[in-house]
Amino acid sequence: MSLKIYNTQSGQKEEFIPRKPGEVGVYVCGVTPYNFCHIGNARPYVIFDVIRRFLESQDWKVLLVQNFTDIDDKIINQAQNDGVEWNEIPARYIPAYFEDMDALGVKRADIYPLATEHISEIISLVEELVKNGLGYEIDGDVYFRVKKFNDYGKLSNRTPEELLAGARIEVDERKEDPLDFALWKAAKEGEPSWPSPWGPGRPGWHIECSAMSLKYLGMGFDIHGGGADLVFPHHENEIAQAEGAKGTSPFVRYWVHNGWVTMASQKMSKSLGNIRSIRDVLSHWPADVVRLFLLSVHYRSPLDFTEEAMESARAGLERLQVGMKRLKRLTANPAAEGPLSSSLTALEKAEETASQRFQEAMEDDFNTAAALGAIFDLVRELHRATGQIDYKPTSADQALLTKTEDTLKRLTGILGLMEKTETVGEDLTGSLVDLLVEVRNQAREARNFEMSDTIRARLTDLGIILEDGPQGTTWRRR
Ligand SMILES: [Zn+2]
Repeated sequence: MSLKIYNTQSGQKEEFIPRKPGEVGVYVCGVTPYNFCHIGNARPYVIFDVIRRFLESQDWKVLLVQNFTDIDDKIINQAQNDGVEWNEIPARYIPAYFEDMDALGVKRADIYPLATEHISEIISLVEELVKNGLGYEIDGDVYFRVKKFNDYGKLSNRTPEELLAGARIEVDERKEDPLDFALWKAAKEGEPSWPSPWGPGRPGWHIECSAMSLKYLGMGFDIHGGGADLVFPHHENEIAQAEGAKGTSPFVRYWVHNGWVTMASQKMSKSLGNIRSIRDVLSHWPADVVRLFLLSVHYRSPLDFTEEAMESARAGLERLQVGMKRLKRLTANPAAEGPLSSSLTALEKAEETASQRFQEAMEDDFNTAAALGAIFDLVRELHRATGQIDYKPTSADQALLTKTEDTLKRLTGILGLMEKTETVGEDLTGSLVDLLVEVRNQAREARNFEMSDTIRARLTDLGIILEDGPQGTTWRRR
């Protein structure tokens, strides 16, 4: 395999060469569990789930680590709002995160480290930085001395001056330089704290990810991921902390950042209030539709959440499901011996090229949009080849249809689609249409064609197309 990955640090697609052949260490910044996740939060986790599935499908061993920032200003504020102890907030929202991700078919990471369970690793890293002259203490707070780390800005490709000009920095007169950031924060009245060489306090925002990725993946690990909004300051600071403490580089070989989900072209974020929670979205659309939507554009591009985009994902998935159902039906019973029907020669070609096109798309910086294109082209050809009402497969047809089914299952499996049995239409609608189809069939058997035609026509008005085949009637949405 010749995989190319866009590396934020170089601003280029690079050939991916893992540190150890056949093994890939991945760290993805996780959530701060202070509330339910929104659909924008879900994007990196679905993307990295697909990246992992793809690498594993190539027989690579993946170690995926994803943290929870379980102590943070947001958690403390939420606890004060709710009138509960700080640790009740992550205890409530970490399980909620897993429920949401399970519903979306995101496989569990290998390790989910918590910041509060790595305080001693965090303190050791801060101590190393203080010893190197890169950390300094003021009144129980410890800051990183940005001026002393020459590579600062290499991920964002900006000088410290440029970074400062574009950043919202809290003013703190005690800092030597406005860009200096907190490694350790002295405890304030009523806040949770842990003992440290600088007095009781808690970790700053960035240090946990350096400490925990170094612990589980080691210096120079393969892929570090997260949303594009984490490039500066979070990931820039992670590099400064890790490389500053260890005195070697690189901390990370490939930096992978996803674009954000927008609503009316504005970034979806809790602070803007334009969010749709994963739960809310999943109450309107099946999980596979949400997944397909999230994978429908390349991961680095912004993705606009609209009803139309969701409905278009639903329609695509329905075509896929109807195709899979048809494949099942056409291969259920052995067919008469015979050569390949002429209507299936194009399908044979499409089946042969689909896997290759899918593979090329994924090797090209995980281009899921193009990979989906390969799948849908195969589905389109399948519908074209087998869509005639009087189509009856031969034994050679059945062999090709079985192969097509296997290919579709394998490719959709890498994208984590079609693993659930739910149909993408609403359940009740589907059951009612099934019922009407049954009533219509009985009417036909009783030669009540007026009734059967009426049912068909009324369903057509509602956008439901009936297909009568040799092995029964199937239906699909228009
Ligand atoms: Zn992080």
